[in-house]
Amino acid sequence: MVSDACVSYGTINHLNEQIYTLLNSITQDTDFFSYYRLNLFNKECPFWSDANSMCGNIACSVNTIESDEDIPLTWRAEELSKLEGPKANHPPRNIQAERPKERPLQGMLGEGVGESCVVEYDDECDDRDYCVPEDEGSTGKGDYVSLVDNPERFTGYSGSGAHQVWDAIYRENCFMKPMAEELQEQSLNVPTGGLQAVSDFRNVLQKESQRLEGLPLDNECLEKRVFHRLISGMHASISTHLCWDYLNQTTGQWHPNLECYKERLHKHPERISNMYFNYALVSRAVAKLRKHLQSYTFCTSDPTQDAETKSRVTQLTKILGEPPQIFDENLMFQDPGAQGLKEDFRNRFRNVSRLMDCVGCDKCRLWGKLQVNGYGTALKVLFEYDETKNGENPPLRRTELVALINTLGRISHSLAASHSFHRALESGQHNA
Ligand code: FAD
Repeated sequence: MVSDACVSYGTINHLNEQIYTLLNSITQDTDFFSYYRLNLFNKECPFWSDANSMCGNIACSVNTIESDEDIPLTWRAEELSKLEGPKANHPPRNIQAERPKERPLQGMLGEGVGESCVVEYDDECDDRDYCVPEDEGSTGKGDYVSLVDNPERFTGYSGSGAHQVWDAIYRENCFMKPMAEELQEQSLNVPTGGLQAVSDFRNVLQKESQRLEGLPLDNECLEKRVFHRLISGMHASISTHLCWDYLNQTTGQWHPNLECYKERLHKHPERISNMYFNYALVSRAVAKLRKHLQSYTFCTSDPTQDAETKSRVTQLTKILGEPPQIFDENLMFQDPGAQGLKEDFRNRFRNVSRLMDCVGCDKCRLWGKLQVNGYGTALKVLFEYDETKNGENPPLRRTELVALINTLGRISHSLAASHSFHRALESGQHNA
């Protein structure tokens, strides 16, 4: 069983076999889900400045879409400006909050105009968001990027710059105090040093290494464990992809690298378990949006393709919505003090989202931002969204939906790649 989720590895593998091709066709073949708008270059790292950790490899670069003509008609500036105006404009958040229940939000967008057909005002952050808006602290409105033309793969970004980001994510944003602070407190509590201090020091080191390895700490509550597993599972999924699509720098060939997988994943089964956990959590969030997506307008200005996108997404949510329910979000944030814990959880996740601007490789930053936004959206849907209510749910932006589905696509691909690596390792062992 995948701990903290109510599901076995076998059930998830079976589910993944059912949706893998369909999900791939959604993320790779539809304009709606293969273009992502984000602020990739105009935001500074809010925590430190280190120009030396920038990756200069060609594999780290991202081709953004320079010409308006290369993005779907609907999102081109001249088309969007036609839609501007009182009918098509997004209502400001304060009006949304005050609007009478009998006047649905969609009605304010004009007949047949869905939210995804108009300018994306992503600066209007909702209190219930788990990520920071893309233009917080930035100077531009962002770029469109083709996710298909910029696949997540090995880039060569590594060393102290990459470690600093992962360390900051694990150390500063995992509810526990940074190690230095913890050590200081420990030493203050020890009367005269000696054996007690050595044993306390060892405990702290053990905890620290458990934390870095993604292992649950003995006294952690479910929510804190979930936070940690999410981060570790995302890290594991990124590692799987870079091992799967690896560049042999001698031959210039891209191919799966078994040794890379063995070192980074196979030797750490808890990291693989965390990927399965993430799969359960994100697929439950997508299943929860089934009703919402039935009435969603997919807008790319190609009606045939939009109808096809809707049909595929409907099929996906139908499969994911079938019993058994593989993740039960209702077990979290139930104890007294849950509200404070939830806010802490949300704020820490927002910090992880800010940390993505410290990633010194454009391609890694693109996929890091997309996946953090995807997990943030999954958390928002799981903890702030009530499928039985209409109108009172937090708004879901197009970028959030694109990030959510692509994040599921990424973990789905990681599980399939991990299987393949596993089989290769087993057959290698048998041959030996
Ligand atoms: P790292 O992966 O950097 O790990 C650092 C330490 O964290 C390890 O020593 C270990 O103690 C611990 N650790 C590792 N994995 C886990 C886990 N799953 N759970 C818990 N603890 C763990 N590189 C690319 O080639 N392509 C990419 O697309 C890419 N995207 C990135 C996105 C982000 C947000 C970041 C921060 C980095 C990205 N990188 C990418 C770099 C890549 O993740 C590694 O940092 C790099 O390959 C160096 O790897 P490493 O072996 O030194 O260990």
